[in-house]
Amino acid sequence: MNRLLLACIITISFQPLFAQSLLLTQLKQHITYLAADELEGRQTGSKGERLAYEYISKYYQQLGLKPVGDNGTYIQAFPFTIKANPHDTIVVIKDTSAKTAHNIAAYLDNGAATTVVIGAHYDHLGYAEYGNSLYAGTEHLIHNGADDNASGTAAVLELARILKSSTAKKNNYLFVNFSGEELGLYGSKYFVEHLPIGIAPINYMLNLDMVGRLRNDGGLALGGVGTSPSFTSLLNHLASDSFAVKKTESGVGPSDHTSFYLKNYPVLFFFTGTHSDYHKPSDDVEKINFQGEANVINYLVTIVDSLDNKGKLVFTKTKNEDNKETPKFKVTLGIMPDYVYNGTGIKIDGVSDGKPAAKAGMQTGDVIIALGKMKVTDMQSYMTALAAHKKGDSVKAKVMRDGKVKKLNVTF
Ligand SMILES: [Zn+2]
Repeated sequence: MNRLLLACIITISFQPLFAQSLLLTQLKQHITYLAADELEGRQTGSKGERLAYEYISKYYQQLGLKPVGDNGTYIQAFPFTIKANPHDTIVVIKDTSAKTAHNIAAYLDNGAATTVVIGAHYDHLGYAEYGNSLYAGTEHLIHNGADDNASGTAAVLELARILKSSTAKKNNYLFVNFSGEELGLYGSKYFVEHLPIGIAPINYMLNLDMVGRLRNDGGLALGGVGTSPSFTSLLNHLASDSFAVKKTESGVGPSDHTSFYLKNYPVLFFFTGTHSDYHKPSDDVEKINFQGEANVINYLVTIVDSLDNKGKLVFTKTKNEDNKETPKFKVTLGIMPDYVYNGTGIKIDGVSDGKPAAKAGMQTGDVIIALGKMKVTDMQSYMTALAAHKKGDSVKAKVMRDGKVKKLNVTF
C-alpha cells in the first residue's frame, strides 16, 4: 500500500471527524465564556453585555468578516427603556430612563444578489433585576443563560466559520446577534427597521434560540415552516436521522424571527425545547448537550446548502397559531408545555408548585387531552380551553399517564 495514498485516505476520512471535534471544542469555548459568572447573565445594556459583544466581535474579526454596524464596527447601538411586566412580582429596578443596548452584525459578502440572515439573541436576564425569572427564591442570583441563549450565539459564531468555507455561494450571509430579546425583542425590532447599508436584499432569516439541550428523543422544534413554500417542500424531503422534528407553520413565535416575519421575510426558528432550568440561575454550561447542538448546526448547514440554488424564496403569510393576540387568560394552569412533543394533546414538561395543575396532581410527563368540556389536541386548543375559564372554576381534566386516561379535578 502506498504510504502517500494511505496518508491521503486517512486525511480524507479523518477530515469530517476533525471538523466535528473542532466544532465541539469551539462550542464549548464560546458557551463556557458567555455563560460565565464574569458576564453576570448578559443583561441588556450592562457591562456583561459589553464583555459578550467584545468577545463576539473579536471572533468575527478573526474570521475576516465585514463589520456592518455603526461607523465601521460590528456594533449597532439602539435605545431601549424598561417597561416593567405587570405579571412580574420581583422586579427590583423600575427604571424607565432611556438606555442603550447593542446588536452585532457581520457580513460574509459572496457577491450574490441576496443575503441570508442567521441570527440569535445573546442577552439574558442578568440578576433578573428587570424580572422574567422563574426562580422562586428571593436572593438575586446570576442567570447565566447557557442554553438561553449562549447556545444560539455560539451556533451563529460557528455557522459563520463553517459557511465562510462553504461552496454554497449564491447568497451572502449576514450574522446577527441581538440584544434586548428577553425584554421584548427590542434588538431585532430595531434591526429590521435599521438594516445595515450596503448589504444585498434579505432572502430569508434563520433564528436559533435555545439549541443546547437536545434530549435523547431528539425533539427539535422548527417554527416558521409555513412562511415559504420552499421550506415546506425541502423539509418534507430532508431526512433527519438525528431529530424528531416538530414543525409549526407560524412565522410568529417567542423569539427574534418574529421581527423578520412581520417585515415579510421567510423565517425558520430552531429550538430544542424548554426544561426545568429555563429562566433560572441553574441554566448552566454543564447541562449543555454539545453533540446535540453540533447536530443542529449541521442540519442548518444542510438546509442552507439545499436552498442555495433556489434563488429568492417566495414569502407566505401564516396563520399565527403562537400569536400573542390569542385570547387573554384570566387563569393559568401552572405547567410548562413540551414544545417539541409530536403527539396529540399537551405534554407537560414541568409543573409549578402551588398552582392549579400541581394541586390537581398533574405530573411531568402527563399529556393533557381534555380540560372541562373541551378537547385538547394542540397548543391552540389548549389556549382556547384555558381562555374559556375564570378564577374559581372547578373542572375535570383528562390526562394520559402510562398509557391510561386519568381524570383529575382542577380548580383555577
Ligand atoms: Zn429567554
